[in-house]
Amino acid sequence: MAANATANVFNIQRFSVHDGDGIRTTVFFSGCPLSCLWCHNPEGESATPSLLYNAEKCVGCGRCADVCPNGAISLSGGRAAEDFARCAACGECVPVCQADARAIAGKPMTVDEIVKVCVADRMFYEQSGGGVTLSGGEVMAKSLDFLLPLLRELQYEDIGVNIDTSGYAPYEKFSAVLPYTDAFLYDIKSVDGELHRRLTGVDNARILSNLRALSDDGARIIIRVPVIEPAANCTEDAMDALARVLDGVRYERVHLLPYHNTGVYKRKSLGWLSSDTFETPSGELMEALRARLSARGVRDVRIGG
Ligand code: SF4
Ligand code: SF4
Repeated sequence: MAANATANVFNIQRFSVHDGDGIRTTVFFSGCPLSCLWCHNPEGESATPSLLYNAEKCVGCGRCADVCPNGAISLSGGRAAEDFARCAACGECVPVCQADARAIAGKPMTVDEIVKVCVADRMFYEQSGGGVTLSGGEVMAKSLDFLLPLLRELQYEDIGVNIDTSGYAPYEKFSAVLPYTDAFLYDIKSVDGELHRRLTGVDNARILSNLRALSDDGARIIIRVPVIEPAANCTEDAMDALARVLDGVRYERVHLLPYHNTGVYKRKSLGWLSSDTFETPSGELMEALRARLSARGVRDVRIGG
């Protein structure tokens, strides 16, 4: 068993209650084939490590510029100015910054290292009916040479696993992980192909066909729909179209997830320029969407994760 297979991980969130049943440990893997305009975890989009620099914390001491081997940092206006194009994410500048303005997102972890972190919270899983959730980025973008050993070790430890996925991967991979997976938290960003491409950068045909195939193969599926305003994926027509897609799919419940803006400062910290602005949908809108789906026959629609 390849217990020393590695993948880049940018966060491990313990005691999560939003990524499936019970108390969970959520492992966020780096690398995603989608680039959703509103992404909450943009530091997970690259499969390789990334520098996060929060200029608002900088006190202008210049220590980072002194140690950077790539000349990526200069001082300007009493603060460090970052040239992200020159940054190699080597991490040299992180420990010298006493203002905690710098961090590297993403580090390689072996299967054994990940399992060790997960096993430490076994007591909480047993008490709450929880387990481990593999997320990202896109965990299904990892190779089966990594995923299968990880899933087998977690199964050996008797820890249940959820996979949080965009659905954008070859179906052979879903088929291979299915025997080790308690539930798929399956995102549907838009059932309109053109809109999906505009919002995420990829077509949704594979995502929708994988959903039907997982349903046919008996997977436990929990649907998650991000509600992004004003992005047109949260209209009554969009809900009607979603209801038509779900008709004929075996799913357990649907979560409508309101946009929140935690990704905005991270994008700035990654040096990304973005003109897209989104709004947190009102409680009234969320309730109206929930009611619309229910009226179209979608069962157990919940607001929030
Ligand atoms: S991570 Fe490395 S290359 Fe990037 S700014 Fe810091 S020291 Fe320079
Ligand atoms: S080490 Fe930290 S506080 Fe000092 S200039 Fe660099 S980013 Fe700013």
